[in-house]
Amino acid sequence: MSTDALADGFGRVATDLRVSLTDRCNLRCNYCMPAEGLDWLPNAEVLTDDEVIRLVRIGVEQLGIEEVRFTGGEPLLRKGLVDLVRRTKELAPTPEVSLTTNGLGLQRTAHALAEAGLDRVNVSLDTIRPDTFATITLRDRLADVLAGLAAANDAGLAPVKVNAVLLRGVNDDQAPELLQWCLDQGYELRFIEQMPLDAQHDWSRTEMITAEEIFDLLSGFDLTPAEEARGSAPAEKFVVNGGPTTVGVIASVTRPFCGDCDRVRLTADGQVRNCLFAREESDLRTPLRSGASDELIAQRWRLAMATKLPGHGINDPLFLQPTRPMSAIGG
Ligand code: SAM
Ligand code: SF4
Repeated sequence: MSTDALADGFGRVATDLRVSLTDRCNLRCNYCMPAEGLDWLPNAEVLTDDEVIRLVRIGVEQLGIEEVRFTGGEPLLRKGLVDLVRRTKELAPTPEVSLTTNGLGLQRTAHALAEAGLDRVNVSLDTIRPDTFATITLRDRLADVLAGLAAANDAGLAPVKVNAVLLRGVNDDQAPELLQWCLDQGYELRFIEQMPLDAQHDWSRTEMITAEEIFDLLSGFDLTPAEEARGSAPAEKFVVNGGPTTVGVIASVTRPFCGDCDRVRLTADGQVRNCLFAREESDLRTPLRSGASDELIAQRWRLAMATKLPGHGINDPLFLQPTRPMSAIGG
């Protein structure tokens, strides 16, 4: 069995696979998708559980994938999620398996996910105020998310990570209270700069809250750069008030980290994307469904990575947003 890595022309090697399990979602975060939702993928185009596992297995066995993160859309909407986690953890060499979720329904499934071998979970939460939550997500579901977080912690998926996006005039003034709440709960908070990946194309450079602003908003806390090596991790981490808990800032726009990127993405309909911002995808579903061998699929996947651009280009005046929004790519 060969393990020729997923290398690109700039010396980067992808070992971290993000798998989108669905493009559907039960929230409507306004930095992600419009109130009316989107034209969801037809079921026939979405990879089956067996097809997902086959591609993940090829990634792990032949292409050097070491970490698998299930995402979406909302991955908890995928009925077979627990089984997908279990089957991924049965692969050899065993990858790390994590989940990025909005937390709705996590209260019910956290223990089963942990038992299936899930290693980590990131829950997206931008506010702990019910009215602001409803303003951002258009759903009155804050209590469910908080219950999901508590269940994940209880199930041993600790330290639970919380992802937050700050929106000017909506929740930016709440950054300190969100951090304090996460510190109190023992959750690791990471602020993510808002990126031009919303379906509505409403993102604006002047409106987004930059990492610099986030540091100003958190000036009431004592933040010391964490000692652990950052490596390919997108978050700049800081020990808060002497520790042990840390806070992270993911400055994808103002401090891009493309040079250290080790990620590759698989969409719910079986397209490989070598970058979140790529404007091209490589179809693995067609060969998968027309009897191609593992070796052929692995070779197609390698070719898809070879053309990865050096950077996402957001700061280029000619930048064009990818055709698919974040929810369809897999965040
Ligand atoms: N539904 C799940 C969730 O919300 O965690 C998984 C998919 S969601 C697309 C993954 C992450 O992307 C979330 O943490 C969300 O906040 C983030 N996200 C979505 N749109 C974004 C944008 N335009 N800029 C930055 N982050 C975004
Ligand atoms: Fe759904 Fe996640 Fe997008 Fe919010 S960020 S609308 S929870 S996919």
